[in-house]
Amino acid sequence: MRVGFLGGGQLARMMGLAGYPLGLRFRCLDPNPESPAADVMEHVQGPLNDPDALRTFAKDLDCITIESENIPVSTLENLILHGSKINPGIKALATSQDRLYEKTTFQKLGIPTADFANIASREELEHEVRSRGGAFILKTRREGYDGKGQFRIKSPADVDAAWAALGGKDLILEKWLGFDAECSLISVRDVQGNTRFYPLVHNVHKEGILFTSESWTTFSKKPLQSKAEAYAQKVMQELDYVGVLTIEFFVMGDELIANEMAPRVHNSGHWTIEGAVTSQFENHLRAILGLPLGSTDLREPFTMINVVGYMPPAADLLKIDGLCLHDYRKKAAPRRKLGHITLLRPSQEKCDAVMKFLK
Ligand code: ATP
Ligand code: MG
Repeated sequence: MRVGFLGGGQLARMMGLAGYPLGLRFRCLDPNPESPAADVMEHVQGPLNDPDALRTFAKDLDCITIESENIPVSTLENLILHGSKINPGIKALATSQDRLYEKTTFQKLGIPTADFANIASREELEHEVRSRGGAFILKTRREGYDGKGQFRIKSPADVDAAWAALGGKDLILEKWLGFDAECSLISVRDVQGNTRFYPLVHNVHKEGILFTSESWTTFSKKPLQSKAEAYAQKVMQELDYVGVLTIEFFVMGDELIANEMAPRVHNSGHWTIEGAVTSQFENHLRAILGLPLGSTDLREPFTMINVVGYMPPAADLLKIDGLCLHDYRKKAAPRRKLGHITLLRPSQEKCDAVMKFLK
C-alpha cells in the first residue's frame, strides 16, 4: 500500500520511517526541495493548493494524510472530488485549524476551556480586555504554531501594542491561565471506531515552543488520565475521526482545561518511537489504512528533549549512553525545531549532559 503525505516535514519523515517495516511505501507533497521527508520517500515538489501538483501527488495512493493542520480545506475538497481517500477528514481539519471553531467544539462537548472571545476590531479588543479584567493572551485564529501569532496582554495598557502586532487578522482573546502544568494526550481511532490512548505526557514549553515531554511523575496521574480519555473520546466521535489526534491541556488542580488539538501525530508523542510498544507514527498509519491498532503501552519512562535552533554534533550527543538522536536534517534557524532526543529511564545526570550541548 502507498500512503501520501500533504507536507514533507519531520512528521511525514517519521511516519515514513515507521511505515517501512510494515511494507508500506510513501510519497509527500511539499514546495520545499529540501523537505525532511524527501530524504526517505518519493517527493512531489509543489504547492499544496496547486491542482497539477495535487494530481501528480495523488496518483495511485491508497490513502492520503496530513502532517499539518494548516493545509487548505480546498486542497482536501479537490482531492476527494477526484476520488482520493483522506484521513483524518475535512471536519477534523476545518475544526482544528481555527481556534474559534476548536474552542466552540470543546465547549459544545462539555470540555472546559479558557474563557475566550472572538475579536474582530481594535474596539472589541479594548472592550473585552476592560470589561473582563485580568491578563489575557491574544492569538491569531489560524496558522499559529510554536507560539507564533500570540501576544500577552497584562493590562489595558498593552492593547495598542497587541493590536499593532496582530491587528487585521482574525483573532481570539483568551484568559491567561495560571496553570499547574501542561500535558497532552495522544489518542488514536481506527475506521471501525476503536480507540487507544497513550499515557498522558507532561510538557514544558520555552518561549512558546515545546521544550521537553516527560512521562508523568509529579502529578497523581490516574484521575487525569481517565478524564483526558473521556474528553478525547467525545472529540473523536464528534469529528468522525480516523488517525492520531492530540489534545493539549492545562492542568489546574484536578481539572483539565483543553488548550488546543492537533489532527495529527504530535511533537509531544515523539517519545513513543522508543518508549511505547507501538509508536504514534505507526499507529496513525495503521488507523488510516484500516489495519488493527497496536498497543499504546509504555515500555520505559522517558524524557524527550527538542533540539531547537542549533544541532549539536552527533559525535558529542552520542557519547551519552542510551541517548536516541533524531536529526530532521533541516537548515538551522533561530526557534526552528531541528531534531529531538529521547532518553529512556532518564537520570538527572543524563538530562543535564544533554542540556549542556544545546544552545
Ligand atoms: P503549538 O506549538 O503547540 O502548536 P501554538 O503556537 O499553537 O503552539 P498554543 O499551544 O495555544 O499555541 O500556546 C503555546 C503555549 O503558550 C502553550 O503551550 C502555553 O504554554 C502558553 N499558553 C497558551 N495559551 C495560554 C493561556 N490561555 N494561558 C496561559 N498560557 C497559555
Ligand atoms: Mg500548543
